Amino acid sequence: HCGMVAIVGRPNVGKSTLLNKLLGQKISITSKKPQTTRHRIMGIHSDGPKQIVFVDTPGLHIEEKRAINRLMNRAAASSLADVSMVIFVVDGMNWTEDDEMVLKKLSHRNDDRKIVLAINKVDEIKDKEALFPHLEKLGNKFDFDEILPISASKGTNVQRILDLAQASL
Ligand code: GDP
Ligand code: MG
Repeated sequence: HCGMVAIVGRPNVGKSTLLNKLLGQKISITSKKPQTTRHRIMGIHSDGPKQIVFVDTPGLHIEEKRAINRLMNRAAASSLADVSMVIFVVDGMNWTEDDEMVLKKLSHRNDDRKIVLAINKVDEIKDKEALFPHLEKLGNKFDFDEILPISASKGTNVQRILDLAQASL
C-alpha cells in the first residue's frame, strides 16, 4: 500500500524544511527568500509500513484575480485531489492574510481527507504560554483533525506527523 500527503502553507513557513525532515535527506530547497520552490517537489518516505509520497505544494496562497494566478492555483489544488492527508503549515509567530487564503482553499473540504495544522518554528518561541491563545483561535476557525506545535528544523513532533500520515493511508 502507498498514498500521498500534501504539505501546504504560504511561503517561508517551513514547508521545504519539513519535507526534508520527513524524508531524512535534503531534497527540497529551503531558503530565507520566499518562493524558492516554484514547482511542486515531492519525495517518497519508505521507512514505514506503507510508502508515502509527500508533496510540497507552493502557491495555495495566491489570489485568483489574474488568469495566470488561477492557473498556478489550479496546479496547486490538483495536487490536493488525491491525498489522504494535508499538513497545513503555519509560522507560530505570524498569522497573515496569506495564511487566511490557504485556509480558505482548504475549507472546500473533502471528508475523508485528514487536515493537520502544524504550527511551526516553536523552537523560536520562548514563552510557550503565548502559543495557547494562537492555538485556540486557529482551532475555532476550522475543524482540524489534529493541531501540533512543531519544529521542522529541530524535528520536534515530526515523528507524530509521520504516524498520522501512515494512519491516514
Ligand atoms: P517554505 O517557503 O515554506 O518552503 O519555507 P522553508 O522551508 O524554505 O523555510 C523558510 C525559513 O524558515 C528558512 O530560513 C528556514 O530555515 C526557516 N525555518 C523552517 N523551519 C523552521 C523551524 O522549525 N524553526 C526555525 N527557527 N526556523 C525554521
Ligand atoms: Mg519551499
